[in-house]
Amino acid sequence: MRTSFILVLVVLVLAACSEKVTAPITKAPEVKTPTEPKKPMIKEILNESKEFVWNPENFADKKIIRYQIPGFEKLNLKQKKLVYYLTQAGLAGRDISYDQNYRHNLKIRRALENIIMNYKGDKDSKNWQNLMTYTKEIWFASGIHHHYATDKFVPEFSRDYFKECMDATGTKLSDEMLDVIFDPTIDNKKINLDPAKGLVKGSAVNFYDADITEKEVDEFYSNLMKNKSEDKPLSYGLNSKVVRGADGKLMEKVYHLNGMYGAAIKEIIKWLELAAGVAENEPQEKALRLLIEYYKTGSLETWDAYNVAWVKATEGDIDYINSFIEVYNDPKGYKGSYESIVEINDFDASERMAVVSKSAQWFEDNSPTLPAHKKKNVVGVSYKVVTVAGEAGDASPSTPIGVNLPNANWIRAAHGSKSVSLGNIVYAYSQAGGPGMLKEFAHDEEEIERAKKYGKLGDKMHTALHEVVGHASGQIEAGVGTPKETLKNYASPLEEARADLVALYYITDPKLVELGLMESIEVGKAEYDSYMKNGYMTQLTRITPGNIIEQAHMRDRSMVAHWVFERGEKNGAIEKVTRDGKTYLNILDYDKMRVLFGELLKEVQRIKSQGDYKAGRDLIENYGVQVDPVIHKEILDRSSKLGIPPYGGFINPVLVPTKAADGEITGFKIEYPDSFTEQMLDYAKRYSFLPNEN
Ligand code: ZN
Repeated sequence: MRTSFILVLVVLVLAACSEKVTAPITKAPEVKTPTEPKKPMIKEILNESKEFVWNPENFADKKIIRYQIPGFEKLNLKQKKLVYYLTQAGLAGRDISYDQNYRHNLKIRRALENIIMNYKGDKDSKNWQNLMTYTKEIWFASGIHHHYATDKFVPEFSRDYFKECMDATGTKLSDEMLDVIFDPTIDNKKINLDPAKGLVKGSAVNFYDADITEKEVDEFYSNLMKNKSEDKPLSYGLNSKVVRGADGKLMEKVYHLNGMYGAAIKEIIKWLELAAGVAENEPQEKALRLLIEYYKTGSLETWDAYNVAWVKATEGDIDYINSFIEVYNDPKGYKGSYESIVEINDFDASERMAVVSKSAQWFEDNSPTLPAHKKKNVVGVSYKVVTVAGEAGDASPSTPIGVNLPNANWIRAAHGSKSVSLGNIVYAYSQAGGPGMLKEFAHDEEEIERAKKYGKLGDKMHTALHEVVGHASGQIEAGVGTPKETLKNYASPLEEARADLVALYYITDPKLVELGLMESIEVGKAEYDSYMKNGYMTQLTRITPGNIIEQAHMRDRSMVAHWVFERGEKNGAIEKVTRDGKTYLNILDYDKMRVLFGELLKEVQRIKSQGDYKAGRDLIENYGVQVDPVIHKEILDRSSKLGIPPYGGFINPVLVPTKAADGEITGFKIEYPDSFTEQMLDYAKRYSFLPNEN
């Protein structure tokens, strides 16, 4: 399962509760911290030179973002090799994604790349620019269909122009392929979820032969699953394409070394073998060897054994995702899309979480909640932040920001799962928005300066307190049912509100300075500014006009901001300012704000502890659900003028090995390419392992 960037006008259901960081476009962008805090714990190790360009390019509805790999230099040579080999393994399977997304993708992509590399004609013309945009859209989506909407891209240049470019560059493409590009009626939807058109036949994804119907697929898999194990069911259909055999019957073409995608899988295996040779510990090596075995055989039993081993391999600083994993691209939900993410432990975040976790009992004892609702023994929740070192396949250029695996329920129940937040990706995304949102919505210069200086740490501290202390705190009174039973559909927004309120209550507490987590209370003030703005105004950019707020985290934030504003406006904690027809919030007294967050925390905890459905419902319905249409329109107008594209995708950093005379790797240099086009052309050159047709 994955957590995605929440997009404007889209409401997603989130598996993880780390959603707060998934909406950076609606939050005040955190700008670099110019001061160097004394304590090493809060010293940011990002290579934050002023010159680093986070967002080198936008096109269509997309922004291209770069990310850095802080912490890579802390690894030893063997670990660096492991990271390098894993990223190479990931990229080796890149072509698989294109082919899985649509059977003609590779052919079309390669034709376009050939034109781009060899065309000598006019590159300033509108036609050429449109051809470049079309190609970039395809690179972004790993295919000719939009990565999110799944509609086929419409080229804004003519068939004749395209033919001219083909002739000028010696590019070959059949008339059938030209029809695919230019005829909007052919394979126009990657994933069709409208049953009237047929889930399988109406979808262009390459998981089933084109003439196979949904009914046939259903029969095929229900037959296969007749004898499935009740307690350990295999992931049937995960790594195969369903085709019609010579006898007319359906059969699976399995992805493995000697099967479908074998040419790319051979390369993946080569790099995984090297990775296994430099594994950090035995459990990690065992998992890698099982993954290699799985790629060699395609056996789903081995896939499960691998996942069990992977979940148990928790000791190292490096981890990875590599294989056919998420099934969102299959309208029937069987087929795993190829993806790879290489992760390094985020040492700073882990240290911060550990310090917070150690003090979890202190936070509980000093909380404003009623004594009967405090836990006697709080155990901090474990929450892992990682630094991404490279992504490929279905995770690139468009990436998740949180991943929770494995997907097999029985493995999760019996052996657990790994849940990670991709810290440097989230950070890069927030930087890419630029200072536009902050400038537009901040009340004054002081607020902007504070956000620039402390906003980033404030956000991280909020996340740490929310996850590690917030969700771990509090207890339910004896005889009261679980929140799901008592609070029903309000349980989830109330739980998120509770965790937010714990974070907000403590983020201005001197205890955090004492613990060395931040240098001053200003960090907490920056978070108050940001939280109120977001909950009261900017998160509305994600709601379509006329709609109400549905998503749990958004309801939580709206409720907290509106409840606190209503009271704070009366007691002088906060005011609403209108200037040039624009609305601003201005916090006047941060201590009073803290008291209000504390009061609300006490009440929300009481609601949970006593299972008070009516009070919980009233809080959420009265403060968290409705949208004021006037302010909504104002926010949408103001943010759309900033012109921030809704979708983001990433250029990967490049790890370049430095070698001794005998070829031995002695170290690595990290390069941060700034051209999306160059990276895509470079990848095409280095990682094209599949034939045009598979
Ligand atoms: Zn949460």
